[in-house]
Amino acid sequence: MNRRTHALVIGSGAAGCLAARVLSDSFAQVTIVERDPAPSDERTLRKGIPQAAHVHNVLLQGNRQLEHFFPNLFGKEFDRAASPLIEVSQDQRMYGPFGWNPVYPTGWHFRGYSRHLLDRTLSAQTAALQNVRILYSHEVSELVADNGRVTGVRTKQGEVLNADLVVETSGRSSRLETWLSAIGVSEIPTRRVPTTDGYATRTFRWRGAPLPYKQFAILRKPPERPRGAYLLEIEGGRWIVTLVGAQGDFPPHDEAGFLAFAQSLATADVADFITQAEPEGGIHLYRKMENVCRFADRVPNWPAGLIVLGDAVCTFNPVYGQGITTATVSAEYLQRLLKTNREGWERQFHRGLVQILAGPWLLSVREDLIIFAGTSALYKSWAALRHRFRVTLLRHLQQAAPKDRAIHLRLYQVQNLMRPLSSLYSPMLFARALWAKFRLPPPAPLASRLNTVPSGSKKAA
Ligand SMILES: Cc1cc2nc3c(=O)[nH]c(=O)nc-3n(C[C@H](O)[C@H](O)[C@H](O)COP(=O)(O)OP(=O)(O)OC[C@H]3O[C@@H](n4cnc5c(N)ncnc54)[C@H](O)[C@@H]3O)c2cc1C
Repeated sequence: MNRRTHALVIGSGAAGCLAARVLSDSFAQVTIVERDPAPSDERTLRKGIPQAAHVHNVLLQGNRQLEHFFPNLFGKEFDRAASPLIEVSQDQRMYGPFGWNPVYPTGWHFRGYSRHLLDRTLSAQTAALQNVRILYSHEVSELVADNGRVTGVRTKQGEVLNADLVVETSGRSSRLETWLSAIGVSEIPTRRVPTTDGYATRTFRWRGAPLPYKQFAILRKPPERPRGAYLLEIEGGRWIVTLVGAQGDFPPHDEAGFLAFAQSLATADVADFITQAEPEGGIHLYRKMENVCRFADRVPNWPAGLIVLGDAVCTFNPVYGQGITTATVSAEYLQRLLKTNREGWERQFHRGLVQILAGPWLLSVREDLIIFAGTSALYKSWAALRHRFRVTLLRHLQQAAPKDRAIHLRLYQVQNLMRPLSSLYSPMLFARALWAKFRLPPPAPLASRLNTVPSGSKKAA
């Protein structure tokens, strides 16, 4: 890639903003083309990111990387919005697949926020970069190509926008395959692992005494325990409650059903919260949660001048909260590759991306593959046997985590993409896991907040 005049990014979601930030160091001008109008100051949800209604728990690594690329990201606007600072263990109560997670000081913090606040702040800070502009209310309808090279895009409004590099980050609903086929490029080999998970989410205001946590989770454990929940304090004294059901056991849309689902969970905390907090707005559902990975590196006639990242290349089951973090890690990799300035770097980029996504992909599909074991062809292959072996090892560690901080911490780091998956395969950890089998589980942390709720706090309507 020799000419670096103009880069064009499709979509201003998290991946689009991160890509634009990185490209702004190498290209004279960067344009983001976004189908939606500019995000408003209110809490109105953007049509292009319907998932923003649901809990977005960005992993620690993702929060760090976001701050690395946008040093002022979690500054003034988050303070003004009163977004809470959360210690990752002490401010959290988590009922995992094998009991309560241990609570201990880590010194690691992150902000609790809605996806809406992140989206608004991220796009404002991206647009404020000197050589970046966002063209709102413009929808890309096709790629423009010449002689095996993508040279720009055509918008639904009929404009042709030329670019030396086009970066596709239009998310889960990407139409990249259709666009590529129209310019004669072969199909992208794609792996899909369906999920049976579904979300129902509502936001609440808490006016009672301070709770002993800022984040609460009951993880589902399919197939025995398909139901789970997340409760996260976000900006403005609000809390977001997402109920999750696996194996088609979806949380419902109506108020009574929402509460009944919460009451059926492994602990009473979420139901207690719902009955004593004040609801804001309606209940939102989300059910298209399948894992999809596209292997752009395997397309023999992939055009020069085009790369794809973010959800457009790989979408994960959202229950593991990996989407934004993998976008940040991919952006960091793009930054490194842009420095090499070699012809044919697009293929190298996609090849490297496959390596980067392999760990998060395994973490995301491990349970879905087991649920679909009977039907998935992938599960019958040799690779699948290896998968089952790795999943079994992981389960052993998860089982020991409530009783052993060192194992819990390592799992936490891997799940938060701070360490590679391979760091779990340690004889020392497995020896500890074995030893933990003979230890008693720790007492439950102060989690049930019934005692802490003052009388007179508001009830859900
Ligand atoms: C229910 C749910 C919950 C989730 N929870 C978490 C979580 O807890 N933590 C986490 O890290 N991730 C989570 N994710 C994933 C996360 O939302 C995505 O990984 C993240 O948004 C990165 O996406 P992106 O930028 O690739 O796409 P998006 O954020 O979806 O952005 C795509 C953008 O492209 C625009 N666009 C689409 N088509 C066009 C077009 N033709 N022309 C121009 N613009 C276009 C859209 O309007 C949109 O702005 C969740 C996802 C879902 C579905």
